[in-house]
Amino acid sequence: MVATTHTSACPLDCPDLCSLRVEVEDGKVVKVDGDERGPITDGFVCGKVRNIADHLYGEHRILTPLLRVGAKGEGRFRAASWDEALTVVADRLRAIRDDHGGEAILPFHYGGSNGWLTEGGLATRFFRRLGASRCLRTLCAAPSSEAVRGLYGQVPGVGLEDYPAAKLIVVWGCNPSASGIHLVPIIERAVAAGATLIVVDPRRTPLARLATLHLAVRPGTDLPIALALHRELFARGAADATFLATHCTGVDALRARAEPWTLARAAEVGGVDPADLARFVDLYAAASPAVIRCGWGVERNRNGGSAVAAILALPAVAGKFGVRGGGYTMSNGDAAWGISPEPGIAEPEPATRAINMTQLGTALADTAAPVRALFVYNCNPTQTVPDQAAVLRGLARDDLFTVVHEQVMTDSCRWADVVLPATTFLEHREVRRGYGAMRLYDSPAVAPAPGLAWSNHQLFGALLTRLGLDRAGDPRSEDEVVAAIFADDRDGHLRAQLTARQVAAPLLPTPRLFVDVMPGTADGKIDLCPAALDAVAPHGLYHYQPDPATAAFPLALISPAIAQQISSTFGQLRRAPATVELAAADAAARGITDGDTVRIWNALGEIVCGARVARHLRPGVAVLPKGTWRFHTANGSAATAVVSQALTDLGGGPCYNDARVEIARVAATAPQ
Ligand code: SF4
Repeated sequence: MVATTHTSACPLDCPDLCSLRVEVEDGKVVKVDGDERGPITDGFVCGKVRNIADHLYGEHRILTPLLRVGAKGEGRFRAASWDEALTVVADRLRAIRDDHGGEAILPFHYGGSNGWLTEGGLATRFFRRLGASRCLRTLCAAPSSEAVRGLYGQVPGVGLEDYPAAKLIVVWGCNPSASGIHLVPIIERAVAAGATLIVVDPRRTPLARLATLHLAVRPGTDLPIALALHRELFARGAADATFLATHCTGVDALRARAEPWTLARAAEVGGVDPADLARFVDLYAAASPAVIRCGWGVERNRNGGSAVAAILALPAVAGKFGVRGGGYTMSNGDAAWGISPEPGIAEPEPATRAINMTQLGTALADTAAPVRALFVYNCNPTQTVPDQAAVLRGLARDDLFTVVHEQVMTDSCRWADVVLPATTFLEHREVRRGYGAMRLYDSPAVAPAPGLAWSNHQLFGALLTRLGLDRAGDPRSEDEVVAAIFADDRDGHLRAQLTARQVAAPLLPTPRLFVDVMPGTADGKIDLCPAALDAVAPHGLYHYQPDPATAAFPLALISPAIAQQISSTFGQLRRAPATVELAAADAAARGITDGDTVRIWNALGEIVCGARVARHLRPGVAVLPKGTWRFHTANGSAATAVVSQALTDLGGGPCYNDARVEIARVAATAPQ
């Protein structure tokens, strides 16, 4: 059989948004690689997607609707037809809505796909019309988005393709070698061409090894570090007074809150050398263009929102805007397009109960207004939501009706009453736009789905009909939904580009702040201490909350991304057991050596897994990857077992990296 070649794009939760070339043979995807349409894809993709055929056709793929026959959590099901499964789902949802109100139903979804047909579209319409509780999607980017909106409004940051123009690059709380790999060669080339690289990360990441300066700060101390840099910029006269007077408000408030943070004090709290902080200021003040790539590692602690705000305020104080490659990069998502998925949803968001997904465990324990139905899609909550034991207790409730729409048999599926097989992005049409690479794609399915998998669009379209929620004039087919999304593309430039080249760029793909665009705040100025953020942050914006470590639980357990997975996605393909990494001094103090089995615990829970002594870690910090599956650890727990449901200072996000634990050796050989 002759292979056919197709184009697609990757909607997974990754900033790079790769443009893809996909070979299909005998109805199966046989090869995936990057093509040249994306501005940073540069013809290559990560191993996760290059090997996606293992995900599409592997043993974990769900091929048919499944109805539970065993106890919850056992994972025993029988196959069912779509008609039977939809009847069960529609009847239960209807009964719950009629008996208890729509808010007893909670859709639970995150970034398994960032496509507008899969994350949005008819699913959102369905739950809005049902009057369901709203899921506050806070697992990632909620604190940083709130910080960016407060300081800058909706405005894109520095485009990744502008990094070669920078003379200094700061990578702060971000490890592109694991997530967002295309930035790595861009930075490597910039460094080879003479750019200075500074990395701020508790770990000695691959880019940290390349850096002129690596600040291995304690987790959760980015805020005082950034405030000390501000204080020093002002103290040295290196703050751009003209820029601040012309383009910023809140300058005095920021300066006052930075004032207590001398380099010495911040260095002590952050566990770094004050001379290195002074050097940071030397390098940053002197260089232009200078860009800060702020990652999402910064936000995952009690101070996360304030820390992101303080870091993103640095280019304003130091006057780094107005040149190509100067400023900051966070999420570049929605600011530039002029279109959104809302017209395709065609149902305004109701003011129903909002439930923060970070606190799912608490929500499922609520007996006053119980959640009686949980509908999970694009998400694997048993492994990714804080306080794993609380989540599992909730999912074990006999009176909770749980539906999971998934591609592969995740651990969350085991707790479902009904499991529905889902298509992947290569098996359904998807409209996707990047939050790093500023491009937009409308890609058709390139291969048939195995078994009976349905797209999100198919599933929720069928449920809208079964529950009598369709309305005349709704955009209903994929074509109609996509047409509605693009209705605001008034001059048709996005559609014209997609037709011509299957990829579209916004009118200004890499705008320079204060040259091409102005801040999206009400007065067009950067607000360095927004009243709205000040009002919601505990004790006010830029207030440092100290390390939660105790004598009993002295180690900071952080759970960053790894190259083989996107959160828990693709975890079924990583067969090796999980290992926690410890710094040599911490391992020696506990008699732990490579290959030992260890117990990691705090008051919330415990994880039993292998251990590895790592040279890339500072003492006091241990690393267990996020998104591990049940089979990766000896007791089935993920890092979320020791993460509380506490919220970040802004945005209500999870404090994954505030887990403080003790670790002890339990055996000399790691589980196989
Ligand atoms: S996960 Fe990221 S790097 Fe991998 S193919 Fe998708 S967009 Fe590209």
